[in-house]
Amino acid sequence: MIIVMSPGASQAEIDHIVERVASLGLKTVLLQGTNRNVIACIGDGRPERSQRGIDRDALAAAPGVESVVPILAPFKIASREAKAEPTIIPIDGHTLGGKAVGVIAGPCTVESRQQIMETAQFVKEHGAVALRGGAFKPRTNPYSFQGLMEKGLEYLAEARERTGLSIVTEVTSPELAPLVARYADVLQIGTRNMQNFALLSAVGETDKPVLLKRGMSASLEEFLLAAEYILAKGNQKVILCERGIRTFETHTRFTLSLSAVPCLKEQTHLPVIVDPSHATGKSSLVLSMARAAIAAGADGLLVEVHPNPEEALLDGAQSINFPQFAEMMTQLKAISHAIGREM
Ligand code: PEP
Ligand code: MN
Repeated sequence: MIIVMSPGASQAEIDHIVERVASLGLKTVLLQGTNRNVIACIGDGRPERSQRGIDRDALAAAPGVESVVPILAPFKIASREAKAEPTIIPIDGHTLGGKAVGVIAGPCTVESRQQIMETAQFVKEHGAVALRGGAFKPRTNPYSFQGLMEKGLEYLAEARERTGLSIVTEVTSPELAPLVARYADVLQIGTRNMQNFALLSAVGETDKPVLLKRGMSASLEEFLLAAEYILAKGNQKVILCERGIRTFETHTRFTLSLSAVPCLKEQTHLPVIVDPSHATGKSSLVLSMARAAIAAGADGLLVEVHPNPEEALLDGAQSINFPQFAEMMTQLKAISHAIGREM
C-alpha cells in the first residue's frame, strides 16, 4: 500500500508515519513528488505478514495523511498507482523522463583514448545528453574481448572532463559496483544481467541513476520487478531501456518491441528509452527505429556511434558513423517538436 501525504504535511508528520509503519513490520520508501510525498509500505509477501491485518482507516486518520491506497501491481514503487507523475532524472544539466527527449550516444566499447575522445566531441556537438561506452563488457563468448576495464573508465572520465558529457557505462557484477560508480554518472545494467538480483541490489545502494536494460527474454512484468529491486533499496533513479527481445525472427539481431514503450508508460512513472542498435543489429535500420521510438513516446535513445564502424572491435555492424548520427539528430529534433516534446 502507499500512504499519500497531504501537500502541506510537515517533516515531523512524515517521520511519525514512517515510524508507525515500521512498527507494523513493514519497510518504507519515501517517494518525493513535486507537490506531495508518498510513502510506499512494503511487506515481505508472506501471508502471516500481509498487510491485510493493518488498519488502513486508522493510518488515514493520522495527521498529515491524505489517503492510504492499496497497490495492486506486484511492482509497488515502480507502479503508476504509487506515483502518477513521471519521474524526471537529472543527468548533469539535462533530464530524462520529462518533456525533453535525450539521446545517449557512443561506441559499444571504449577501444582507445582517441576513439572515445573523438566520439565524445562529435556527439556532444550534435546534441547528445550523455556519452555511452562499455569498459567492462558482458560477452557471451569467454574468449571475446572483455573491455579495457579500469583503463576504459579512466578514458571515459577524461572524455567527461573535456566535453562535460555525463558518462553511462555498464557494471557487470556487484563487486564492481563501487569502482564503476566512482567514474560513471549513470550505471548501466545489461540485458544478460537484468535478473542478477545481487547486482540490482548493489546498484540500488548507490546514489547514481541506473539504466536498466530489458532482459532479452523477460516479460514487461519481470522487467518492472527487476527495476523494483533497485527502487526498494532506496535508489529512485531508474531508467528503463527496451533493447529488443528474442523471437523466432532472424532478419534482425533481436526483435524491437516498440509497443513496450507505451505499455511501460501506462504501468510505470519511470522514464523509458529505446536502444535501436542492439535491437536491430544493423546500422541501416537504426535511423528508422530511432524515429519510430521517439514517435512512440520514448523519453530518449541509447545508440551506438563509432568513428569508423568498419574497424570497431565490437558491434561494428550496428554502429552508425558520424554523418549518420548527425542526420539522426536532425530528424529526431523534427519528430520531437512535432509531438510537443523538446530536444
Ligand atoms: C550495451 O549496451 O553495451 C550492451 C551490451 O547491450 P545489451 O546488454 O542490451 O546487450
Ligand atoms: Mn554493443
